Amino acid sequence: MGEGEGVESSNKPDIRLSSPFPWRGETLPPILDSETPEHLKRIRDLGIPYIFDIHTHFFPETIMKLIWRWFDNVNWAIGYRLSEAERVERLHHNGIQRFTTLNYAHKAEMASSLNDWTYANYKNWKGAIPFGTFYPEEGVLTYVKKAVEEYGFLGFKLHCEVSKLNLNSPELTDTFLYLQEKQIPILIHTGTAPLPGEFTGIQFFKPFLETYPKLEVIVAHMGADEISAYASLLDSYPNLALDTTMVFVDFLATGKVLDVDSAIPYLERYQNQIYFGSDFPNIPYNLNHPISRFLDLPISDLAKQKILYRNAENRFFK
Ligand SMILES: [Zn+2]
Repeated sequence: MGEGEGVESSNKPDIRLSSPFPWRGETLPPILDSETPEHLKRIRDLGIPYIFDIHTHFFPETIMKLIWRWFDNVNWAIGYRLSEAERVERLHHNGIQRFTTLNYAHKAEMASSLNDWTYANYKNWKGAIPFGTFYPEEGVLTYVKKAVEEYGFLGFKLHCEVSKLNLNSPELTDTFLYLQEKQIPILIHTGTAPLPGEFTGIQFFKPFLETYPKLEVIVAHMGADEISAYASLLDSYPNLALDTTMVFVDFLATGKVLDVDSAIPYLERYQNQIYFGSDFPNIPYNLNHPISRFLDLPISDLAKQKILYRNAENRFFK
């Protein structure tokens, strides 16, 4: 897509209508002014005590503001520009009592200090599951070990597009072998949506997984927009999982309408290898939107229970 495409041509006042990422249908979910968590009763009826969100972001404020500015430039309207404490309150308000602390390095010499920052702060966020990050650079194994053994982090996050990170980089071999041995999960944005990068896509991911077949990998956004290619690996790699982040929503950042609809059967079939994720707070709609859309999907109650709660709860607390 071209820069600013669609912006000039739109004469509608709502900034969201001119987003390069289209909406499904005409009705746009309101942002924040009516964030009613009607889903709370529905999850209770399914026997879910609370939602476990595998994909939520926490960054130092200066970096978070730069990220929000980037989203402004693509008309991705984020309503949750609140303090950390208020954002955690929004999570709890929506029944999300456990959530990860994902962040990632945009360049070298940044990951280690992000880990220090997460460690210094995450205990203030009730329900936070501490995740670190790393980058192909000197000393990476040392600070990853520190994050696991000293900080007690329970997972890591990598972003192949933003970090221009090649999963097959030899600089990361020791680190991946270490995390494989320790059975520590890594949540990876490796897909080509919303924007492809130099090292995104199944052609980079597949050789990586073949090299570390027992690594616990959670693919963000179900690998959109190559969902079926990623899902086809789930049978052969039992330690591989996908997260639902931004997939089953009315905002089409992760692929075309048909691609998303054809992904619904994977939720039933691979119900033990899928986690619910929201991408909060960097979402252009209310947090109740992805939850109620997920609850509306034509899949079994058991699959919903596992994806919203049980799989992650078992993964981190059993
Ligand atoms: Zn994310």
